[in-house]
Amino acid sequence: MKSETEPLTFAAKIQAAFEEGGQRQTQPRALISKRLTDLASCGTDFTVEQLWRDLQRSDPHLGRATVFRAVEMLVSQGLLHRIEFTDGSHVYRACGDGHHHHLTCVQCHRVIDVEVCLEEKSLQKVGAQHDFVIEGHTLTLYGLCPECRKES
Ligand SMILES: [Zn+2]
Ligand SMILES: [Zn+2]
Ligand SMILES: [Zn+2]
Repeated sequence: MKSETEPLTFAAKIQAAFEEGGQRQTQPRALISKRLTDLASCGTDFTVEQLWRDLQRSDPHLGRATVFRAVEMLVSQGLLHRIEFTDGSHVYRACGDGHHHHLTCVQCHRVIDVEVCLEEKSLQKVGAQHDFVIEGHTLTLYGLCPECRKES
């Protein structure tokens, strides 16, 4: 007997998110979903600009705004992470499941998923001090990776 449900593949999760988000145009949706699944499987970070240029090779009429909206929607659903750098730029990454944070290199913009987190007890304490109910947090660690340290 096999009663447990199969975990959804990344492609299926994207599909479900698009349906929930009410993005109707099916053709760009399929293109975006396929490309993101490829990027997820090779762990490649990307910008909206890069993703858009990539997709335009398959659909020259695809608008940048469509790609941007789709990406932001997937970020809000937690399927993509928006990773900010200290210089104000950012990339997107299809990270795996599970709570984690990012370690970024200030020079080459390499990104590593790290398991470290803030202490739950101190978050609750800060919340209580200011009469807030804490709903979430962000945390980014940054520094120089070994390669960049070698160069400088
Ligand atoms: Zn991540
Ligand atoms: Zn580096
Ligand atoms: Zn955390």
